Amino acid sequence: MKYFNLMLCLALALLVVNSAQAQNPQVLFREWQQQHVTNLDPSRVRHADLKIYLDRLREEGISVREVGRSTANREIFEMEFGRGPLKVFMWSQMHGDEPTATSALVDLFHYLQRNRSATWIAALEKRITLRAVPMLNPDGAELYQRRNLQSIDINRDARALATTEGRLLKKLRDEWQPDIGFNLHNENPRTAVGNSGLQSAISLLAVAFDPSGGDNAGRIRGKKICAVMTEALNPFIKGHIARYDDTFNPRAFGDLFSRWGTPVVLVETGALKGKSEMELVQLNFVAFASALEALSDGSVEKAQTTVYEALPFNTSGALYDLIVRNATIIPRFEIDHTRLAPFLADFAINEAASWSDGKFQRRASIQEVGDLSVFYGIDEVNATDFYVVPQRSALRNGAEASLLFYRKERASKIDWTLPDLETRFPPDAVYRNGEWTGKDKLTFKR
Ligand SMILES: [Zn+2]
Repeated sequence: MKYFNLMLCLALALLVVNSAQAQNPQVLFREWQQQHVTNLDPSRVRHADLKIYLDRLREEGISVREVGRSTANREIFEMEFGRGPLKVFMWSQMHGDEPTATSALVDLFHYLQRNRSATWIAALEKRITLRAVPMLNPDGAELYQRRNLQSIDINRDARALATTEGRLLKKLRDEWQPDIGFNLHNENPRTAVGNSGLQSAISLLAVAFDPSGGDNAGRIRGKKICAVMTEALNPFIKGHIARYDDTFNPRAFGDLFSRWGTPVVLVETGALKGKSEMELVQLNFVAFASALEALSDGSVEKAQTTVYEALPFNTSGALYDLIVRNATIIPRFEIDHTRLAPFLADFAINEAASWSDGKFQRRASIQEVGDLSVFYGIDEVNATDFYVVPQRSALRNGAEASLLFYRKERASKIDWTLPDLETRFPPDAVYRNGEWTGKDKLTFKR
């Protein structure tokens, strides 16, 4: 009898431990930290790196099979976990330069396999069959570009089917007829949440199935899945979650999948100042695992669509990478044979990275000059006490942002027209190619 009680206590204790592990996004967050297997920033993961990840998953016992080839003959893979009746299909990186979810899917499958004995994962395995295509566009990923080698946007090819990758995606859906799809992307890091000026770290969309934008059972479930993911992410990025534009797009895969009978949830990862690429993978992992768990245990049905519907829509155009406010600009170069007098203005800068020869080249360029009080910078500095001197060319829209900052009290001794100004008069701060030196001398506004 005593023995029986002891075993009962142990069994109950295990049950409590296991179910507590299942419910809590903080636990998933922490366990990703301890158990993730991806070790490269997603933007650096090329097809060869993905194959190394997938070899490891295969060794762990995950089913990974080649399902097709890209335009340049690179293998496209599909992973599978579980044997349940609910068919869930995820695909990532149909846009080659949108890599976050590819790493998150690798970490997710590793985690599910490694923790198969956890109560919620054992249950999930019986209730769900999960298939995922990581990196649908390996050719685009290789060049770190959105489109495939034909320069076609695969996510605008659902109707024309001119791409081999698009045809493969449609075939995988048509043959398997999944109940739910997850279309996994990255959005512009300068996407904001409504009018808040806050960066959208994650945007979600329960995709419309026709131009009316109405609800059916599948779309309502999609909204509930989005609500589950919102609540799972709120402890980490509350206020940085938005809703993606829900206009029906007759050329896009998510929209046509939904029309064809596989309601789709779109997850767009943005960026968040101070959060690394790997931390965004971690948030993806928490969102996907939480959604799968809710689908598996049925708790998704209790989720409130209003949680999703209350999310503000994305806005674009309000955010820049950097705004320099209250700068007194010293025009050092002539424009149209005219040397301008110094003037007071704000200016905005965006940074862009392109991939070539195995590394990223960063370029920062001027986007706007003038009164920028209605815009936000992801980063902002107050240059009130400084003269700002363009180093290589006149400060104008589109020009490279290479800027020298001098404290105003030094100005009377400086000849701004010197070609070797920077060496003759070392500046107090410099901004060049998206990098700062001496930035701490400028006061921060945000
Ligand atoms: Zn995309």
